[in-house]
Amino acid sequence: MVPIQMVDLKRQYLKIKQQVDEAVINVMNNTAFINGKAVADFTASLSSYLNVPYVIPCANGTDALQIAMMVLGLEPGDEVITPSFTYIATTEVMALLRLTPVFVDVDPQTFCIDPMAIRKAITSKTKAIVPVHLYGQSADMEEIMKIANEHSLYVIEDNAQAIGATIKYSDGSIRKTGTIGHIGCTSFFPSKNLGAFGDGGAIFTHDETLADKIRMIANHGQSKRYYHDIVGCNSRLDSMQAAILDIKLKHLDAYNHSRQQAAAFYTAAFANHPKVKTPVIAEGNHHVFHQYTLILEDVDRDGLVEYLSQQGIPAMIYYPVPAHKQKMFSFLHLPEVDLPITDWLTQRVVSLPIHSELDQEQLGHITKHVLQFINK
Ligand SMILES: *Cc1c(COP(=O)(O)O)cnc(C)c1O
Repeated sequence: MVPIQMVDLKRQYLKIKQQVDEAVINVMNNTAFINGKAVADFTASLSSYLNVPYVIPCANGTDALQIAMMVLGLEPGDEVITPSFTYIATTEVMALLRLTPVFVDVDPQTFCIDPMAIRKAITSKTKAIVPVHLYGQSADMEEIMKIANEHSLYVIEDNAQAIGATIKYSDGSIRKTGTIGHIGCTSFFPSKNLGAFGDGGAIFTHDETLADKIRMIANHGQSKRYYHDIVGCNSRLDSMQAAILDIKLKHLDAYNHSRQQAAAFYTAAFANHPKVKTPVIAEGNHHVFHQYTLILEDVDRDGLVEYLSQQGIPAMIYYPVPAHKQKMFSFLHLPEVDLPITDWLTQRVVSLPIHSELDQEQLGHITKHVLQFINK
């Protein structure tokens, strides 16, 4: 059996090696390492894949979120409603900009921000909502956009884990995550569904004025060369990453399909087991399974992870400490919040290996050993 990894980047690379190698050598030959043609080409491809007019590439997903929060003109002390059950980057940038993250609970079925909790958290200081499409499934964007419109709030989607995911609105229309809010952000970190061979990120919007300003902020606030109108940062996607991503984008739907098939295998193996709850795909959602995450009941989670590791099976806890309990926010003196579902999930979730290269033998080995441990 091929050794099992959380993400098997090597096997994925070998399948497209010739194209990738050629693309990289091509960039080296023309030496346009920054803002070269490869970046323009990839940006155009991504814009057409997502059907969103403006795609601004940047250095990583965290920068994408930071630039999105900078461009909206949010002021220190403005409140931003966000889940606590997410990767730290989502909320870290709020602290960096001295915005006030208002942590709310998630839906225990989808792991995504609970729209009812958003409603309850709105105050006169609320300026934005940052939903996270956690593990590859869209948050309830129809309801979130409705709330945002009612209260004139901005919505920034953290789409780092869900590129290629869609959600169906009640009128039957299908929307791609990252293109629904005012701004969408994504990451091309190597293990993401669309991963570079290094760091990368992008920002999406339908709004031309925002797009122009995002481009300025990502480039030192520059309006024309050496004229800097606003405080920005330096955040670029380099040409080699763009060249590789342009090739990988053509395979993204197939990669996501493989992830869905692996997820279906797991879900069938654990169906109706009293000790594990398999991921719920919300009605109308196209879930791209960045992670396959079980909720364990009455299982020694550390023991399971340890046992699996002895069988050559990695398993991870995403995330062991929710954002609202991180020390980094202590300087903000945030009021104590009670997020019972987030706390409950934090104690019980475990993510199994999922990627585009898992084969039946590996999946069989994983499910067999998970069941062996939890049935004993
Ligand atoms: C990966 C990730 C990010 C950050 O992306 P980087 O490219 O690593 O900076 C932000 N939010 C979520 C939910 C992520 O999973």
